[in-house]
Amino acid sequence: MVRKGCVFDIKRYAIHDGPGIRMNIFFKGCPLSCMWCHNPEGQDPDPELMFDGLRCLACGACQDRSLPEECPSGALQRCGKYMSVEQVMEIILRERLFFDRSGGGVTFTGGEPLMQPDFLIGLLQACKESGIDRAVDTSLYAPGKVVRQVISLTTLFLADVKIMDPLKHKQYTGVDNILIHKNLFLVARSGVPFLLRIPLVHGVNDTEKETDLLARFAVRLRDMGNLKGIHLLPCHNYGQGKTMRMTGKKVQQGSFSTPPVQVIDSIMLKLRALGFRVVKGG
Ligand code: SF4
Repeated sequence: MVRKGCVFDIKRYAIHDGPGIRMNIFFKGCPLSCMWCHNPEGQDPDPELMFDGLRCLACGACQDRSLPEECPSGALQRCGKYMSVEQVMEIILRERLFFDRSGGGVTFTGGEPLMQPDFLIGLLQACKESGIDRAVDTSLYAPGKVVRQVISLTTLFLADVKIMDPLKHKQYTGVDNILIHKNLFLVARSGVPFLLRIPLVHGVNDTEKETDLLARFAVRLRDMGNLKGIHLLPCHNYGQGKTMRMTGKKVQQGSFSTPPVQVIDSIMLKLRALGFRVVKGG
């Protein structure tokens, strides 16, 4: 089993991605390419360089091969590094007290954690052995065999549902949603608690047709399993600045906006009327 994986960030004291105080581990690499992605640096599976022109001193250190490859201003930064399960666990275990006192734990996110299944499973097993709560934030675009293994080690799924119309889903994310829906049914039938997370993008998935389809789908999932609620995540454009700083492969990104407040409120009302616990953000 591969005990190493590529991670592009580790955030302490996270409070929006599961119960209590959490540590978020960001896996690098994603099979989707959502045009509103707010973590575009998480799409490519390998480490890459990010360049921030506003911080560059034009000192030329990065051009001079005789000098150590250190950028003095932080304008040039490596995004992503390979870490072993043991290295990540050492960081996780330092926060154990906060997890125990707050009812928190670790959330594996990305990118797409299921894209590095052996690394993820190694971390889930190690956390389980240490009695640490384990949430997985995922698009569920992965082979069913991987999803089943992850289900057996996870205490909460944060499952993204982006667009219900399969053609539109492919147009905006690069993949269709058939596999994702199949895997959502696997999660629902497993009995493991899960939340649906909906990135709300104006003109894309905030229409009446889309939200009606979403509501019907959520009712089906709730009837099958342990659906704990729905989180609506209004889209923002933070990802665009990061895309401009990426020096390697260009990520396709559009300009999108948050739906108007009245539209978000009406979606919340529609879902609450069906008995769902709905939260905006988080
Ligand atoms: S080393 Fe950093 S600050 Fe100097 S020229 Fe290169 S990017 Fe700019």
